[in-house]
Amino acid sequence: MKPTNSTLSNAGTTIFETMSALARAHDAVNLGQGFPDDVGPAALRQLGADFLVNGHNQYPPMMGLPALRQAVAQHAQRFYGLTVDWQQEVLVTSGATEALMDCFLGLLEVGDEVVLLEPAYDTYAPAITRLGAVPKAVRLTPPQWELPRAELAAAFSPRTKLLVLNSPMNPAGKVFTRNELEFIAELLLQHDAYAVCDEVYEHLIFAGQVHVPLMTLPGMRDRCVRIGSAGKTFSMTGWKVGYITAAPHLLRPITKAHQFVTFTTPPNLQHAIAAGLVLDDAYFASLGTTLAASRDRLAAGLRGLGLPLLTGNGTYFLVADVAAWMLPNEDDVAFCARLVIEAGVVTIPLSAFYGGDAPRSLVRFCFCKRDATIDAALQRLTAWRGKAQ
Ligand code: PMP
Repeated sequence: MKPTNSTLSNAGTTIFETMSALARAHDAVNLGQGFPDDVGPAALRQLGADFLVNGHNQYPPMMGLPALRQAVAQHAQRFYGLTVDWQQEVLVTSGATEALMDCFLGLLEVGDEVVLLEPAYDTYAPAITRLGAVPKAVRLTPPQWELPRAELAAAFSPRTKLLVLNSPMNPAGKVFTRNELEFIAELLLQHDAYAVCDEVYEHLIFAGQVHVPLMTLPGMRDRCVRIGSAGKTFSMTGWKVGYITAAPHLLRPITKAHQFVTFTTPPNLQHAIAAGLVLDDAYFASLGTTLAASRDRLAAGLRGLGLPLLTGNGTYFLVADVAAWMLPNEDDVAFCARLVIEAGVVTIPLSAFYGGDAPRSLVRFCFCKRDATIDAALQRLTAWRGKAQ
């Protein structure tokens, strides 16, 4: 029979699904896939249920419910001083995953180059490659995740159509500084390129950090596409409500992609998230505070076990160097699989975020969990290390 599409046929199952399946099979504590123990704000869950029961169940407008698009525009003004025309510049999608795909479909042509910063979220490269565009990866330098400026500049060419910027960054937890963003903005202007800004963790940052959307920098308003996710901001990752903000000339082709990919997103969830985005400042501030406490708890435990931790200022991920715990010739994927079976703790190997040769001893721990979950993972690791020594 004729071959199916080679990019997708050769792609593995995403590491998050694989590790969560392993977690279920081994009754392990899951600090792998990024989903919170928290069930999300009760008022929003109630609203979602009420709108569903009371009959908001037919196709909503293709670009999203006006109430949600207005709330997205208002949120951009309130947090970043961005003036956004909700009718022409906001699109609701079924999660940031669909938003990313819509952006790539709407903006890329075959042969275009796309600059990625590794470690990169695992959706980007296959989606770009599938469209006949070419990912050009530049690696941030652990343990501080510095931006290698000369390499980044060298990755741009006349064929560069866009750069994907994920800040705060999964899995590194890096929050790009204004100075780094200025450098990136300069490159985009020099090369007449766009940026797809994956800002799903925009509110998940720790004290002293500021999230600066690239879109707010001079010259960037019409070159950046900003993506947000209700799944992250309201701790309900299964809802899959995302939103894109971009100037009309960029949003128009992206909307055409959305029209053919999902067309709409469940209306009851859109209604609830519209109410979520206008919650008071205390709600948004509480996200970082709660997460910082969980991060400190996990970090203290891992340090106590002797693991070096890498710098992270946002997201709900912590990266540790597990070289001291690995067997000779073991890679990070084999190590993480062994950790599930022997210790009963699920983590994510960082090589999943790299194309080609990757760092082999870095592992991601997710900490948006109840204290009891974090403590259970630490107890299991402690017991396992006790046996290993
Ligand atoms: N981008 C990044 C960097 C993510 O970590 C995730 C979720 N893990 C997504 C996009 C997808 O978000 P959503 O669940 O809204 O599709």
